Amino acid sequence: MTQTTPAVRLRGITKSFGSNLVVEPLDLEIGRNEFFSILGPSGCGKTTLMRMITGFETPSGGSVELDGKTVDRVPTRQRDLNMLFQSYALFPHLSVYENVAFELRVRKTAKAELDTRVREALALVRLEDFAKRKPSELSGGQRQRVALARAVVGRPAVVLLDEPLGALDQKLRKEMQFELKRLQKEVGITFIYVTHDQEEALTMSDRIAVMSHGRVLQVASPTEIYDAPISKFVAGFIGSCNLIDGVVTDDNGGRRVVVPGLGPVPATLPDDFATGTPVALGVRPERTTLTDQPSEGAFEGVISERVFLGDEWTYHVRAGDQTLTVRVPSGEMSAALASLPEGGRVWVSWPAAAGRVLPAD
Ligand code: ATP
Repeated sequence: MTQTTPAVRLRGITKSFGSNLVVEPLDLEIGRNEFFSILGPSGCGKTTLMRMITGFETPSGGSVELDGKTVDRVPTRQRDLNMLFQSYALFPHLSVYENVAFELRVRKTAKAELDTRVREALALVRLEDFAKRKPSELSGGQRQRVALARAVVGRPAVVLLDEPLGALDQKLRKEMQFELKRLQKEVGITFIYVTHDQEEALTMSDRIAVMSHGRVLQVASPTEIYDAPISKFVAGFIGSCNLIDGVVTDDNGGRRVVVPGLGPVPATLPDDFATGTPVALGVRPERTTLTDQPSEGAFEGVISERVFLGDEWTYHVRAGDQTLTVRVPSGEMSAALASLPEGGRVWVSWPAAAGRVLPAD
């Protein structure tokens, strides 16, 4: 196969359970060495999609290719892939070394090669010094690393990970996110990572597929998903976003978006939104500016709530019929603004480039 053959190609893959369509027909290509995340809320079909790639689940239609070859009739264990779950089961009576070596022993890998591979895998997850321990003598994070070493030791083309960090505490999760990303780049294996955690997907992925109700809404890089979401759902699910309902008008002010109670709002309006179309304007809180003085184009409002988060303040400002979320980095907080209590008068603005026009539904 050539370098350009995708690691995974899905053609019209779909799944129904009875009359319940849980994955709508989907075409998707996942590249070699790509860190690809499937992101979406609980029940949207992520795990079902992943299980169809592994062969644990039979698709209702469509086909799965691995490395350019259809695997629809190939059982899971003969597919060149491995899996890592949140509830990974290590063998409690075996050492770390033997847990990692297990699959290679089953495959009757020659002794010297087995030893080299196991030691490499343990080095990758930084557990060289723990080879002789039993799983019960490890922390949760270390156990998860053993499971990871076990998933990559056979050097499969693809590793599928279903919420593998779900059981870890917040600090360990963060550490493991960086570890996973580093490891994936080092071993050059395609990772398909299922998560409902948008921050996790943004941190680690080369590309993200955002799913909702069995549909893949957008597939793009983390920055593109964040900066150029194509729908309200994607904008609201990835990061925080003000979503303001308005309508496209064309009057003596030219083509623009008008929001009831606020008037015309700064926005980048693509040509394909016709006059009269109801739209939603997406504005990221960190693209807004908050002042205690009126300024050109700023909307007057009242502070309804403010929360200190250490590196920034989050304000909720009532303006017209809208409640806008505004972020002020702590280092940019003026004394005048800081002195304003809840109920104080403020002005919110954003540049037209920060106002993203999205379809209303
Ligand atoms: P979570 O993040 O909670 O794991 P998910 O996005 O992975 O959710 P899936 O597990 O793929 O979602 O489930 C998608 C839908 O399919 C859900 O409504 C679920 O109830 C349904 N479903 C999954 N497996 C089966 C099954 N074997 N039989 C019937 N319905 C199923």
